[in-house]
Amino acid sequence: MNMRFSVLASGSTGNAMYVESERTKLLIDAGLSGKKMEELFQTIGRSLSEVDAILVSHEHSDHIKGVGIVARKYNIPIYANEKTWKAMETSIGPVQTDQRFHLETGSNLSFQDLTVETFGVSHDAADPMFFVFHENNRKLALATDMGYVSDRIKGTLKEANALVFESNHDINMLRMGRYPWNVKRRILGDMGHVSNEDAALALADIITDKTRHIYLAHLSLDNNMKELAKMTAEQVLLEEGVTCGTGGVLLHDTDPYHPTSLQIV
Ligand SMILES: [Zn+2]
Ligand SMILES: [Zn+2]
Repeated sequence: MNMRFSVLASGSTGNAMYVESERTKLLIDAGLSGKKMEELFQTIGRSLSEVDAILVSHEHSDHIKGVGIVARKYNIPIYANEKTWKAMETSIGPVQTDQRFHLETGSNLSFQDLTVETFGVSHDAADPMFFVFHENNRKLALATDMGYVSDRIKGTLKEANALVFESNHDINMLRMGRYPWNVKRRILGDMGHVSNEDAALALADIITDKTRHIYLAHLSLDNNMKELAKMTAEQVLLEEGVTCGTGGVLLHDTDPYHPTSLQIV
């Protein structure tokens, strides 16, 4: 059986992703309430009681809101790097010592048949990192909350069979929108979030003939629309010589409140 995954929820209202192999079940971030996390698992026909570990990308509340609650209720170990542990400690509440694990940026860790590779990103958190999952020669990558996509990151993500990739905002919608200037500057800056166009340009460098599924993720509610993100990706990728749709790369939506159906990598 190849790896499967679901983007349970994606966006500034809360992020969570589920990855499973034959022998391992992982939850990556839990940025929604405990109750909502349970609902999301129920929708994909899985249960939090089966989860082997929670991996935390960074301490922003849209990634950790339910981490402590879920870990305590279902007795799940939490993995994060040292700086993230320090930064989220007070927000997630008490966690037993035997549930605390360190996973440093740039290191790899195997959970039975599934190996997790971590990489650092440029984002305004203590030590933000994201993940590549390897199982049985298949590769799934998760990369959101990035100010820009460096060549190093592109190299790490290359050859992935499936990617969950940030396509945060449309630059014009953000510029003309209601956000105060300092917030706009943060989002547009090198430590903020990736725009639709920059996401597509980066993806054009990452996609190889092994790449089949792209999930556009962490869309801004105020400064983006699913159709616009998809259209921009399609156009830019086409200009860069990548075909989307039948026979090419399949573009998928993600949603802030509804999980994507379990996808085989
Ligand atoms: Zn986020
Ligand atoms: Zn963030």
